[in-house]
Amino acid sequence: MTFAATVLTLYPEMFPGPLGISLAGRALERGDWSLETVQIRDFAKDKHRTVDDTPAGGGAGMVLKANVLAAAVDSVADKRPILAMTPRGAPLTQARVRDLASGPGAVILCGRFEGFDERLFEARSHIEQVSLGDIVLSGGEPAAIALLDACIRLIPGVMGAALSGAEESFEEGLLEYPQYTRPFEWEGRTIPEVLRSGDHAKVAAWRKAMSETDTRLRRPDLWERYGSVRGRPASGARHETKDKDQ
Ligand code: SAH
Repeated sequence: MTFAATVLTLYPEMFPGPLGISLAGRALERGDWSLETVQIRDFAKDKHRTVDDTPAGGGAGMVLKANVLAAAVDSVADKRPILAMTPRGAPLTQARVRDLASGPGAVILCGRFEGFDERLFEARSHIEQVSLGDIVLSGGEPAAIALLDACIRLIPGVMGAALSGAEESFEEGLLEYPQYTRPFEWEGRTIPEVLRSGDHAKVAAWRKAMSETDTRLRRPDLWERYGSVRGRPASGARHETKDKDQ
């Protein structure tokens, strides 16, 4: 089964963009996933093909019209999840990405200007509102590209070494451990000795400890959740590795 992506946008020319290159691009050529764009403006029925209007209540910018958006969304009604990109949505997680990647694909609605008329979400309650994070982009397209990139690399056969996805950041609720590569010494800094020991159990233990320490220090929010999921207090890492050379 291929992963079918449909992007509803005012700027179809932004696609495939970065998704046509490297890993995602090769997978697209192979047919491991497919991409279709829908021009939202095609669903504006007035003579000027108007997609937006001024915000009710006043204020800067323009708001995308509910009737035009709904017509665009309805035109691709099928079994795939429909996601609207908006900073007001639920922050995307790797778990949601994994879920999407194992399904039939996704329909992604990209906003512009000040965003969507809220009544779209009331009238089409199956639309899931998702956010790329606590930042404001000028449009939903870069967010759609990021979301699709995250999904595509998980499609079986897309990533070279199948296992390289399993240990990554967020997959176990932790950040990934730090990585190193040759040369052994660079600007006077060496690679932690344990990584050259050839002792797989020791390497695994060191990596787990580093994952826990870095998550606790860099992402207290993730660390808190990790602790509560495992039913133990998230107050301190089991292994307090400050010196990464140990
Ligand atoms: N006025 C809106 C922001 C509009 S930005 C607000 O303050 O919430 C214009 C469009 O960019 C949005 O409709 C959305 O599609 C996209 N966008 C901006 N930031 C985003 C984010 N963090 N995640 C997903 N989409 C985003």
